[in-house]
Amino acid sequence: MKNNNNLLEVPNINSKDAKLKKLIYDVDESLFNEDNYSYEKFEHLCVCSGGTTSSCAKNGFTTLDLRKNHSKIHLDRKTNLVTIGGGVIMGDLLNYLQKHNRSFPIGLSKLPGAGYILTGGVSPLSRTYGLAIDNIESIKGFLGNGTFISLKKNQINNEEQLIWEGIKGAAPFFSIITEIELKTIQSNSIKVIEGFVNLNELTEIIKLSEEFPENISLQWIYAQKIYIYIFAELKNNLEDKKTEKYLMLLDKFPSLEKQIYENFNKINFYPKELNLYELNANNHSEVISLLGEDLKNDIPIFIRCMDEIMENKPNNSCYVASQQLGCKTKKLNHGSSFFVHRKSTWKPWIYASWKKNDLQEKEVALEWIYKSWSKLKRFYPNIHLAQLHNHLDSHEEEIRLAFGNRMNELKTLKNIFDPQGILPPL
Ligand SMILES: Cc1cc2nc3c(=O)[nH]c(=O)nc-3n(C[C@H](O)[C@H](O)[C@H](O)COP(=O)(O)OP(=O)(O)OC[C@H]3O[C@@H](n4cnc5c(N)ncnc54)[C@H](O)[C@@H]3O)c2cc1C
Repeated sequence: MKNNNNLLEVPNINSKDAKLKKLIYDVDESLFNEDNYSYEKFEHLCVCSGGTTSSCAKNGFTTLDLRKNHSKIHLDRKTNLVTIGGGVIMGDLLNYLQKHNRSFPIGLSKLPGAGYILTGGVSPLSRTYGLAIDNIESIKGFLGNGTFISLKKNQINNEEQLIWEGIKGAAPFFSIITEIELKTIQSNSIKVIEGFVNLNELTEIIKLSEEFPENISLQWIYAQKIYIYIFAELKNNLEDKKTEKYLMLLDKFPSLEKQIYENFNKINFYPKELNLYELNANNHSEVISLLGEDLKNDIPIFIRCMDEIMENKPNNSCYVASQQLGCKTKKLNHGSSFFVHRKSTWKPWIYASWKKNDLQEKEVALEWIYKSWSKLKRFYPNIHLAQLHNHLDSHEEEIRLAFGNRMNELKTLKNIFDPQGILPPL
């Protein structure tokens, strides 16, 4: 992890190019010392874990980089609970767990850090194992006012209850989490069916997927072409027979290929042929994530809407993709959280990038994101706040659509535990 001339070596290019005011590695009581920790000093503090978003570093702001001193991973072999530092990336977690034949429902990329877990965490395995937040057993860290917190599921008192629920989905607004204890899962083989499809085929596949059992999920991406992944966790002979019955329905799509992977860690999403611009060092980008329920009879209208969106894209970097949740993510038996849109079964996201110094192209690209979002709202009215956009005009609306009827409780948490407003603003 290099730090040259106050630049941060992170995957997100906007953040990588940001000229930092200062970089801090340590989070302990001394950080919150009155002389150091004030709005005058920071305005606000950016926090970096995996560094995959445009909000972990900004021109003229201080970044707290958790990757150096909060990167430990430890699995308790008796309980199969894993403890990770607040700066651990999901790829390192999976590599570590693989040695013990365990796994964790990470998302479609190994790059994101603890931000993936704290903002919800939607995995191709979520339909079976819930969201990442549903697998949190305990956390340690600091509230924005400097108070140390250590909370453990099933040992939460009344005063701590709202904090615990807020950490699960809205932690970045009022806390800095240095340690997370997570349930792990048995590492099983995964069957992936993938390939390029056309719009008609996508229509049929979405229809089939809305009937999938919990161990199968669909993810698709519509960039220059459409690529789909159907992801099926294989568990035992009896269940696998049922799985095969569903997967056989896909045999009629000639371009799709099947492959069995030994475990989740062996899968790499997004083939090179898609030519995605995600990590192109010459481009800056933004992404907005939505949430909504099954499309059912609206699939044909949705597909027409997608066609229109893609026809209007201002450059080839732009894409819309979607991942499937539902089944276990709808259940509340993991306890209440600030991921409020539990009915959701789809999480689409809209991505656009532009040449990094071209302000005009930036404006056009963001305009396309907002127009596309507005077209997709009828199908996906809510937001998954996986990226904080307090530097964009859409921030307020995104926050409102992400936290819904818990917005006032979040404001209360923010007022009490981050009274100076040093962590990302609401
Ligand atoms: C290629 C790619 C694929 C993705 N796939 C998925 C997916 O399948 N499912 C899904 O749900 N999401 C997915 N995401 C979204 C990603 O999980 C979120 O954007 C997440 O917030 C990124 O976390 P990070 O730690 O990498 O980012 P960072 O930029 O380091 O952090 C993001 C924000 O979280 C806050 N934060 C991070 N760590 C802490 C901490 N320890 N304490 C307090 N605040 C903290 C910071 O304030 C920061 O603003 C994907 C992102 C990328 C780039």
